[in-house]
Amino acid sequence: MRYLLPEYVYTAEGLRRDLAIALDEQGDIVSITPRSSQAVEAGELLNGMALLPGFVNVHSHVFQRALRGHTHRPLSRQDTFWTWRRAMYAEAQRLTPDSLYAIAQHTYREMLAAGYTTVGEFHYVHHQAYGQPYSMPNAMAEALLAAAQSVGIRVVLLMTAYAQSGFGQAPLEEQQRFCDASVDAYLARVDALRATGAPVGLAPHSVRAVPEPWFRRIAAYCQQHHLPLHVHADEQVSEIAQCQAAYGCRPIELLARFDALSPLTTIVHATHADMNEIQLMAHNQATVCVCPTTEGDLGDGIAPYAELVAAAIPLTIGSDSNTRLDPLEELRWAEYSARMRYQRRRVLVAEETASPGPFLLACGTRQGARALGVQAVGELAVGMAADFVAIDLAHPMLHGWTEHDLLDMLFFGASAQIIAQTWVQGKCVWTR
Ligand SMILES: [Zn+2]
Repeated sequence: MRYLLPEYVYTAEGLRRDLAIALDEQGDIVSITPRSSQAVEAGELLNGMALLPGFVNVHSHVFQRALRGHTHRPLSRQDTFWTWRRAMYAEAQRLTPDSLYAIAQHTYREMLAAGYTTVGEFHYVHHQAYGQPYSMPNAMAEALLAAAQSVGIRVVLLMTAYAQSGFGQAPLEEQQRFCDASVDAYLARVDALRATGAPVGLAPHSVRAVPEPWFRRIAAYCQQHHLPLHVHADEQVSEIAQCQAAYGCRPIELLARFDALSPLTTIVHATHADMNEIQLMAHNQATVCVCPTTEGDLGDGIAPYAELVAAAIPLTIGSDSNTRLDPLEELRWAEYSARMRYQRRRVLVAEETASPGPFLLACGTRQGARALGVQAVGELAVGMAADFVAIDLAHPMLHGWTEHDLLDMLFFGASAQIIAQTWVQGKCVWTR
């Protein structure tokens, strides 16, 4: 038994002082109690630190970290998501298993430094250029898993299915690396990865890129094996127009028609979701993952936060293109962009008395873990894995903090630089 003695720990009951956290050999929490003399004698002091549950990054395309800074100059006469996508595809074309491993290792280490302890990797560069599978068909996926393991971050590999460039259109040459020959070939690769014990979710890329028969098979597979289903939807207005032209309905309505909306589903973005789509997500208990720094960078728009929250749809965050890696900034921009959309200061938490800190923390931790199907993560409580960040309470950014508003000070007045240590499964995997 190991004992950790932080000055403060954020439990389900809120911020608590002078507790001892006991860990077993697996790195799971077996007790959180007032400090006994035994704990004090044997414990590791984390003086001046407050422990928070580790942040959960629900949506990452790790290789896109290489694009930051290189895609902000003019790329065309009128830059949009679609002109950025050409630069992203060019980057994707260059990847090999070795180069993917290298950038993933570097970027996952940066995620740990920023306080992310779990990442959902929405992985779609599967095959060689022009779609020829590698001799090991999951070589790229295994490179990501190995990179995550080498730095100690918890990863859920969201295996992306991709079949077409648009509704009923063959894939473009630069999309062929993303595509499997059939849904059976795709599911066989998912089966093979699951057989290794890797945490896996399924990710039909979007209603644009995946046809109905694939969606139905993938959704049934998720139900059968109780695995998360993640899908991009409603990020771009033109995607909605194309969906309406092809099917006479909007993307999230189409997902409902395909039986792809359930409590296992996470809709990534939902930026332009309308009221009917929001009701469908709520009715089917789906989750939404917003990616505010990426949505800002790409000019996507601002999600209908007030309506999502009113419908009690759980919100989670993703760093998506990985231009920025800072969960505090990601959550702050969810809050700030919501305020700007509605021109008032209380949108995400409407109650008269509640402050936004605990709400934002739940979005960044507990709800994210649930969206990725990771059971024992997202809270510091008995029976959970010891995944946490240690906040440096003496950092100048936190000068003047109080027990009452520490979380608000973190989300509105600080950056990830206040994180002194990051722990995953009871192991310190990053220290400042
Ligand atoms: Zn994405």
